[in-house]
Amino acid sequence: MITITAMRCSVKTSSANDTELLGEKIGRRLKGGEVIELVSDLGGGKTTFVRGLAQGFGSKDKVASPTFTISKVYQAGKLKMHHFDFYRLQESGLVGHELEEVVGSLDDIVVVEWAQIVQNVLPKDRLTINLKIANEDNRQIEFECASSLDYLLEGIC
Ligand code: ADP
Ligand code: MG
Repeated sequence: MITITAMRCSVKTSSANDTELLGEKIGRRLKGGEVIELVSDLGGGKTTFVRGLAQGFGSKDKVASPTFTISKVYQAGKLKMHHFDFYRLQESGLVGHELEEVVGSLDDIVVVEWAQIVQNVLPKDRLTINLKIANEDNRQIEFECASSLDYLLEGIC
């Protein structure tokens, strides 16, 4: 399969709330089957963004950093959002298998923080979000996705 990077753009946010609202906007467009990778240093705003995503997607579940549990699930109707965080893990282990099982399922959305150790499991057709820390309150957020996911970025890029 040939993957074409269809969209790439960058948005600046100047508060955690701005970042959450941006996540919410994209969360409202999720249909199921999407894979989203979040990249940043610690404190970049990945979990903050996911909080917005889950809200926009329609879940009332509480979003917190899954660092200690590695994965969390937020539900909205028949759709589930799986939030993974592989920070400091040397091996993806059982949770890696859990990830493999939900990737590609149309009833599931996969969101991953610190995805280095599961790169081989992530499909090329995904949305990658890179959050760069400009200073305490400002983030430069770069989006990049395959053409199959361009509906997620319409009007944002
Ligand atoms: P990560 O999951 O990348 O480690 P978190 O979302 O847990 O990051 O934490 C981001 C921190 O940065 C929070 O304390 C948040 O309030 C703060 N922050 C300040 N400005 C922003 C911004 N523009 N976007 C996101 N978070 C911000
Ligand atoms: Mg986090």
